[in-house]
Order: sequence, then C-alpha cells, then structure tokens
Amino acid sequence: MLKTAYEPPGDSGLWQLFLENLERTLHHTRTHPATVEYLIHPRRTLTLSVPVRMDDGTVRFFTGYRVVHNIARGPSKGGVRYHPAVTMGETVGLAAWMTLKCGVFRLPYGGAAGGVAVDPRELSPRELERLSRRYVAELVDVIGPDSDILGPDLGTDERVMAWFMDTYSMTKGYTSPGVVTGKPLQLGGTAGRGDAAGRGIVYVLEETARRSGHPFKGATVAVQGFGKVGRTAAGLLHQAGLKVVAVSTRTVGVYNPKGLDIPDVARYYQENGFLQGYPGAEEISNDELLALEVDYLIPAAFENVVHRENAREVRAKVVIEGANAPLTGEADEILRERGVLVVPDIVANGGGVVVSYLEWVQNFSMFFWTEAEVQQKLREVMQRTLDEVWSIAERDKIDLRLAAYVLSVTRINEATKLRGVYP
Ligand code: GLU
Repeated sequence: MLKTAYEPPGDSGLWQLFLENLERTLHHTRTHPATVEYLIHPRRTLTLSVPVRMDDGTVRFFTGYRVVHNIARGPSKGGVRYHPAVTMGETVGLAAWMTLKCGVFRLPYGGAAGGVAVDPRELSPRELERLSRRYVAELVDVIGPDSDILGPDLGTDERVMAWFMDTYSMTKGYTSPGVVTGKPLQLGGTAGRGDAAGRGIVYVLEETARRSGHPFKGATVAVQGFGKVGRTAAGLLHQAGLKVVAVSTRTVGVYNPKGLDIPDVARYYQENGFLQGYPGAEEISNDELLALEVDYLIPAAFENVVHRENAREVRAKVVIEGANAPLTGEADEILRERGVLVVPDIVANGGGVVVSYLEWVQNFSMFFWTEAEVQQKLREVMQRTLDEVWSIAERDKIDLRLAAYVLSVTRINEATKLRGVYP
C-alpha cells in the first residue's frame, strides 16, 4: 500500500480506493516518485463552518469542505455536493477522481471537489440560498476562474451555481462567470450542460458496443438512479432504440422485461415524486436491479453500490459506471475475474466536466456555441478518449480502468516533471 502522511477524517473509502488503484497503475507506468508524492498528498484541504440563519430565526451550523487535490495540469476543477453523508474523506476522494478525469480527457485542469453535509430537501429555498452564499463567501480568496473552478454535483443545480457566481462576483466587485460552471444559460451557462453527463454515457456505450461487439440497438439496459444522470441516460438510450428494462430511485425500481417507456416513467416520477405503483411494470429492489441479466448495467446513483457481498450476483455483460466509484475495489476485482467488461467512471461519466470545460472556454470569449455544436464536441471528446483508453488496454493487456489510469497518470506525470518543484 502506498504510504501517505495524509489521512482524511471521516469515511475515506474513496481515497483508499484511489490509493489502491494508483498503486496498481504504477506497475504499468514510469511515474516519477515526486509525481506519486504529489498525488498522495492533496494540495489543500479546507473544512468550513457555515452558519445559516434559518427561516424560524434560529442559527444552524453546517460543515462544508473544499479540497484541491492537484494542480499540475492547470487550475483545479470540481463539483460541490450537498448530501448528508458528505465528509472530508469522501471529498478528498472525489477531488482525486477529478484530477484523474481531467487528465484522461486532456482538459487543462487539476482536480478539486467540495461539499456541505446537508440534506438540501430539508431546507427552504431561502435557507438553501443563504447556505450557498455563505459557503462561497468563505472561499472567495481561494477560488476563481484561474485558480479553482466550482461546478455542480449531487444535490446542487444551476440555481445554486447562480448564487455561487453572484456571491463571488459581488465580493470581487465585478461579474465573473468563469468561476463556476453549470450556470443557467442567462448567466453565461452553456447549452447542453444539463444533460451532459447522461449524454456522455450514451456516446461511451455506443463506442463500447462498436469496439467490443456487444449489441447497441435492441440491447437490454438496467439503470440504477433516476437523477439527472440516470434519467438522461435512460431517456436517450430508449430514444436510440435500446430496451431499458429497469430504472430505480433510492427506494425502489421498476422492471419490465419488454422494455419501459422511459418518457412515460419520467412523467410518472415527476408527477408523484416516486416510482411505486407505476403501471405496467413490476416493482423491484435496487439489489434485484443490479442482478438483472442484461447487456448493460449502468449504476448511476452513488458510490460503493456493488461490493463484495453482491458482486457475484451481477449478471450484466457490461457495466458502465455512471456514478463515481459505484464498485468497491473488491467488487471490481470480482467482476474482472468473472470477465465482466467494466467501463470506468473517470471515462464513462466525464461528460459533465467536459461540457463544464466548454462552458469555461465560452466564458473567456463570451462567444457561445449552439447546443448541436456542444453535443458534437462532446461526442468527439468522449469517443476519442474511450478509443485512446481502449488502445492502451489492448497494447498492455490490461483492463479499461487501469488503462484509463495509465493514460491520466502519464499526462499528470509529464506536467509535474515540466513544472518542477517550487521554489
Ligand atoms: N461533479 C461532476 C463530476 O464528478 C463535474 C463537476 C464539474 O463540472 O466541475 O464529474
């Protein structure tokens, strides 16, 4: 195991998994020891107390985090998560994930992540606004379009990004759209950011089918998670002629072996806020969904959903990781041994940060592309990246996750060597 002086407080499963995967990668790359040291020591870890005046007049304190993991390839980039389970350990892990993601997609960024331990559904819109503004106010001196750029993640949306952008801008005294991506269109957001992660998964699945010989049109798919990513991917795959047989939310899923009418399921979910009782489908649990015999399984909800106990139940031929780290290290090993093809998260769900990059670029020129142009660029980047990863996997006879790490770490290593150590 790699030795690091840094041990994050809180659940650090993601950070540990990063260290494990990195160690595996080092056997297949020539990485300078100093690069390894940089990668196992996050650059900056901040823990913030965020006081919020609640609507009833009381003051509540929330704990927030912002981690910059690495900046070898450029300013750091990463989302902000609002979820009760957010910890420093998880945030450091996600920040490392972003370093890898930006490296593999050749974006000129390092990696960062942030979050607040809060259930946003329990706050009123005004409380959420005050929380978001105070979170950014605490970070004004260390974020910026050239230093650390925020974006959306689980539990945050374009409304939150607008508050982030406005708070930063008001404090600085001028409007600065490039400090945040995932903004509303009217504030310098880009066309095509909302569905970017889900759409990216579809491009990746299409390319996976082409390279592996697994079917595309008519193929069966199960999607775990009906949030922004899962819902978009399911909808677009349905539209492309695949048979989406199951989708699920936190509580339950619905299953129809003949294929679900995804727009209709989405309408039902929007009207009711749950999937229970959806007509024309059988109710299934999340564990049953993960065990369905399908061509493609897309876990697009949360980390660690496939683990040692249920990894042998997975009967999909291909797993496309829509969420970050949906497989634990042990589950990954079990699936590898069983010959299940896994398309790793840092490639599969990179569509979000790729379009964030396109948004940031447009913010510098203040010249904007159409949705079709953004989608075309996204398709090119996703397919080219998967192609590059696939070629390394074939060349070195390694799995796709390892190949993606090899590609990313090699690029980070080159940048680290060229920059040297300051002073
Ligand atoms: N949260 C997204 C991810 O995990 C991207 C955030 C961003 O666009 O900066 O890839």
